[in-house]
Amino acid sequence: MGEICVVIEHRKGEIRDITFEMLFKARELCRAFSHRLTALVLAGKDSGLANGLAKWADRVVVFEDDRLETFNADLYKDILNRVIQEDRPFMTLMGHTSWGMDLAPALSVKTGLPLATDCVDIQAKDGRPMVVRQIYSGKLFSRVSFKESPGYLITVRPGAFLPPDAEAGSEGEVVNQDMPADLAEPRTTFVEFVDTGAGEIDITQADLLVSIGRGVGEEENIATIRELADRMGATLSCSRPVVDKNWLPKFHQVGTSGKSVRPKVYLALGISGAFQHVAGITGAGTVIAVNKDRKAPIFRVADYGVADDLFKVADALKEKLAGA
Ligand SMILES: Cc1cc2nc3c(=O)[nH]c(=O)nc-3n(C[C@H](O)[C@H](O)[C@H](O)COP(=O)(O)OP(=O)(O)OC[C@H]3O[C@@H](n4cnc5c(N)ncnc54)[C@H](O)[C@@H]3O)c2cc1C
Repeated sequence: MGEICVVIEHRKGEIRDITFEMLFKARELCRAFSHRLTALVLAGKDSGLANGLAKWADRVVVFEDDRLETFNADLYKDILNRVIQEDRPFMTLMGHTSWGMDLAPALSVKTGLPLATDCVDIQAKDGRPMVVRQIYSGKLFSRVSFKESPGYLITVRPGAFLPPDAEAGSEGEVVNQDMPADLAEPRTTFVEFVDTGAGEIDITQADLLVSIGRGVGEEENIATIRELADRMGATLSCSRPVVDKNWLPKFHQVGTSGKSVRPKVYLALGISGAFQHVAGITGAGTVIAVNKDRKAPIFRVADYGVADDLFKVADALKEKLAGA
């Protein structure tokens, strides 16, 4: 039986959502390929991270050491290379995050294994993985197959797979490993983690997004939509022109040059539905669009559409919520 290995991502002692997305997808692939699922934890001493992972994987392999408290591409590459040489996992998944983007290419060179990056889907075909990637800024999806190889490396786009709480299985075995004695001195050191400033929001974590586009017309009009979002308990996001006009800061932007989001509900107000925007909401649950142009492309991806003035709809919603 082969193995699919997921490299666990964590920050400040917390496992990051991308980890569970990868584990969820890896479990599906394990069923397709009849492999077992291994979660690989590289973390600081007594991190306790393995406990929360045992129900997601058949095996949790743990390397704990003070040097691994924060991500270091050199050390990770060295240890992963040894794990790959020893266990020969059929497939190794990493997040397409600042970690994965730093680590995966170097690991590919070190191991000689093929790498596909920023994948939004992974399927099984002829005994090998076949991945789906977006090209031309998300306008097209391309299917990429690998040449026969003893192993495959894949980075996964955050938000591409189902919500992390969708599945958890039986308890896996936890295997504590000794740190290799001859690790090379890393060329980089962790200096500081700089948090986003107070008051800033993370639209990638929101369950409910109210998103505004150029259709909002004027900066002054944003207040009324913000009020609606507050009443709904939603987070405000936007399309790129809203950021380009300096009406909202960049961290609100959804899309290829903004963030990929996966709320349960995405309410798009006055957004036309350009592909660069829509590429950022492929992981959204229900998409509701309000646009006064009934031919707007956003209606092609919306589950529900209202062809009307966004302010009329916003006022009606506020009234409903006030009466609720
Ligand atoms: C390299 C590149 C990267 C890009 N990255 C991104 C990205 O990450 N995110 C992103 O969003 N865009 C991105 N864009 C821009 C993208 O191509 C579109 O220009 C942009 O998404 C359009 O934003 P919009 O829908 O808000 O505006 P518009 O396309 O101008 O649409 C406004 C819509 O509002 C409707 N409307 C107007 N008034 C009202 C009203 N009162 N009530 C209801 N509806 C109304 C109109 O009918 C129209 O459909 C990128 C472009 C490039 C070239």
